[in-house]
Parts: sequence; C-alpha cells; structure tokens
Amino acid sequence: MNAARRNQARALLAWLPLALALGLALLLVLDSDNAWARPGGGQSYSGGSRSSSSSTHSTRSYSGHSSSGGGGGDSGDGAGVIFQLLLLCFQYPALGVPLLIIVILFFVAKGFVGAGRKGWSTTTPAETVQAVQRVEQDARLGRAELDAIRELDPGFSLVLFEDFAYLLYAAVQRARGLGTQAIAAYLAPDLAQTLVNHQLSDVQGIVIGAMRYVRFSGIQGPTLEVELELESNYVEVQRAGGTSRYYAVDRLVLTRAKSARSRPPARANKLDCPNCGAPLEAVRGTECSYCRQNVGFGRFDWMIASLSSQTRETRGPLLTSDVAETGTELATIVARGAPQRFEDLARKDPALGWQALQGRVALIFAELQVAWSGRDPLRIRPFVSDNLFQSMYYWIDLYTQEQCRNVTENATIMRVDLANVLSDAYFDSITLRIFATSIDYTISDSGKLLSGHRTRPRTYSEYWTLIRGTARRGEPRRDNACPNCGAPLRIGMTGQCEYCRVKITSGDFDWVLSRIEQDESYGG
Ligand SMILES: [Zn+2]
Ligand SMILES: [Zn+2]
Repeated sequence: MNAARRNQARALLAWLPLALALGLALLLVLDSDNAWARPGGGQSYSGGSRSSSSSTHSTRSYSGHSSSGGGGGDSGDGAGVIFQLLLLCFQYPALGVPLLIIVILFFVAKGFVGAGRKGWSTTTPAETVQAVQRVEQDARLGRAELDAIRELDPGFSLVLFEDFAYLLYAAVQRARGLGTQAIAAYLAPDLAQTLVNHQLSDVQGIVIGAMRYVRFSGIQGPTLEVELELESNYVEVQRAGGTSRYYAVDRLVLTRAKSARSRPPARANKLDCPNCGAPLEAVRGTECSYCRQNVGFGRFDWMIASLSSQTRETRGPLLTSDVAETGTELATIVARGAPQRFEDLARKDPALGWQALQGRVALIFAELQVAWSGRDPLRIRPFVSDNLFQSMYYWIDLYTQEQCRNVTENATIMRVDLANVLSDAYFDSITLRIFATSIDYTISDSGKLLSGHRTRPRTYSEYWTLIRGTARRGEPRRDNACPNCGAPLRIGMTGQCEYCRVKITSGDFDWVLSRIEQDESYGG
C-alpha cells in the first residue's frame, strides 16, 4: 500500500464514525413520522397511510391566499443530514455511496412493510396523488354552504343551528326508549312509527364526540334538507334490567320548510312549540294548543326526517392505535373573500388584529394540551363552546375509562393560515388552519407506553373555528382571567364564572373555540 492510499484509508477511517452517526441521525429524522392521537379526539376518523407530513415552516404568516402545507423539502434537520451525506458521496464515494445505498434500501424496505409507517422519503408522486384522491373522497360538505340559508332567513346562524342539531340528536336517541309522544312535533311521521325499541326503557348519557356535514340541498326547492353524521356514546337501559354502553356513528337527516324562520338565540337550546315557543306539553301530537297550529312536518323549524346507524359497537373507538396523519401537505382551503371579510371585522373592531387573535389562539392551544394530557376537561372549559366541551369531555372520559392518557409535550404552533370568516346576525366566526408540532404518545396509568413515541415530535395541521358574539368588541384576552369580571378563571362544567356568575363560554365575551376539524374532514 503506497503512502497516498494509506492517507486515503486513514481519512476514510476518520470519516467512518461521522458517517455512521450521520446515517443513524438520518434514519431517526426520517423515521419520525408516526401519527398518533390528537387533542380533541380528531384521531378517530382519520385513517389510511399518510404520504407526507414533514412541514416545518417556522414563519407564522397571515396568508390570505391558498398556501402549501409544505412537503418536507425545507425540513431543517433532515435536509442538513442529507446534504452531509451527499457531500460524503462526492468527497469519499467509497464510503458515501454504500452508505447512501443502505439508507435508500432501508426506506425502500420500510415502504413495503407496515402501511401507516411510511417516511416521506418513500413518497412517490403516485402515492401523493392517491392520498389526495382519498382525502377528496373523504372530504365532507363544507359547513359554510349552509350559510346560503341566510339569504332566505336572515336570522339563520350556523352556530345556533349546530346547537339545535345536537339537541335534536339527543332527543331522538332518548325517544327510542321513552317513546316519541313528547317530541312528535320534531319527528317525521314514519320515523315516529318505527323509532321506538320496546326492549328499552330509556337511553341515557348521550354524549356527542363529533358532528360532520354530509349533504345539503333544497335552496332551490320548497324544503331544506341537511344530512349530518354524528359520532356518539350512549347507554341503553333495558326494560328487563341491565344497561349497555355503545359507541355509535349515526346519520341524521333534518328538514325544514324553506318558508320557516330561525328561532332566536334565547330558544336555541330548548325544544318547545316550533311556532310559538309554548312548552312542549302544550303540543298534542303535532297540534299546539296555544297557537292552534299544526306545528309538525318541519313547517316552522327543523324536523328529524330520518335516523340511520352507520356503526354501533359495544366498545369505544380504539384509543391506542397508531393512526397515520393525513392531509397535512394539502393546500389550505381558503374560502373566497375570507381575507377581505377579516379586514372588515378588523375595521369594525380595531382591537382585533391578526396578532391579537393569534395571542388568543396560542393561549387556547396551550390550555388544550394541559387539559388533554392531564385528563382535566375543566381546564379547557373557559375557552370552548358547549358542544366542543361536550366532545372533549367525551374523549377525555373514554381515556379515563380505558385507564390511559394521551400525552402531548413541547406542543408548538408553527404557522397559522386564515381559512374563512363568516358573520351572521348573532356571531362572527373565524376559521384558521393551525400547523403545529408536538411529542405525542399514549401511556397506561401504570406508565406503559401504548402508542406513539416519547421523544420524536410529530407535525400536523387542523382547522380551528373560533366564534364571538357580533356585538362584542375589544382585544382578545390572552391570560387566564374572566373576560367579564377579570377575576382569575375558575369556572364549572356549565361555563359560568364562579365570581360574576356569568356564562363566559357562549362567545358573548371573547373568542371561544367552537370546532376542531381535521384536514381530511374539513370541507370549507
Ligand atoms: Zn305553538
Ligand atoms: Zn367573572
């Protein structure tokens, strides 16, 4: 061996530990894409393999136009290691090339093993196309489409409609056991005939985990029709004794005459005469003894036209499975005119700037992590609407029952995009797409790791909708104080401040989070 070759060999040996370290680092960086649960319970309806999710944008920008979620190309750590490896290939091909081949072989092999555990380096254009198509197939109806109802009915509010839909769903579930007499004014006659299960004496503990829009029609015809999908949990009480708890996914079809007008906010959370607001006891069948009208058939308010079961199981959803992240790389769905409507809101209330709103979002995001990881739903209660609280309570309760917890650590918002702004007679609502990263794992109460990873961060995105009463003005609070009286936040399940006794979670005082939607289910 001549001197030159000896020198080269020495140099190679000097590179060896570095090269191995680089290779190892690369494997770790590229393998860090497992997707797990999600504060708020979004994991239950995501599925399939993900194709790309390594968006690591660090700029927090107000991008009014459609912007990419990032494909991983600018991933700081990963790109740096790849660069070093390529450099190695050029400087010391004898070492660099085999190492590169090993790394490539590793990911090719990995691509064939275990769907749902794919690194972004294995993503081919075809896979990306498949993933996008799958997401499009799964995409639900955009809730904002219902906003068209306001042209017929200026008092229509999506926020209040959703409250009412929750109420109707709970009522129709109970009626399966209690009978349909009491809510006949809200049921289609054929559903009233077939709904009751005579084995049951009641259906209790109805908690809705999620609601999605499936279909909306009728803006041109005489009857509006909305199909909703609800994920819920309830307990059936048998006449013969005994109870069973179910996890269910149901489809609910609501119809209403186009000529009907929405009820005011004061009546949004109760079932009464759909026409005059008299107590339901005054309604016999579909005839109201107060207003002397036939108040059934959706003439005056939404009626349940059908209820059908998609899934019904005696166990809850799996809390510990590794579900892949889907759709993070897709462009943000920005509603036409949304940036302009945000400017309009900011003009109406100069204290509501993009930065001020982000301060509020950051507070809610941080409190959500603490509530979720600590299974402490009251912690997030001041910042979320009744329906979202109910949904979070449902998920946290499931974790408690399963004696495990989903822990998130080092959660950080990377970027926020504006997706939509809507205003109706009672509420302003702002939908944002949040890109975030966190360590995310699920452990049993005895400390055993059930899924996820204790050290690898995971990147994800989701759509958050915040609401506030249209009359409210002022800078969004970014501290843990009552937005009405300023006292330190102490509130109960119902959302009332312990000091001033005012319900602060209706959006009448400050922006509250009312919906969290995953990329694959957000339809605009
Ligand atoms: Zn009446
Ligand atoms: Zn207060």
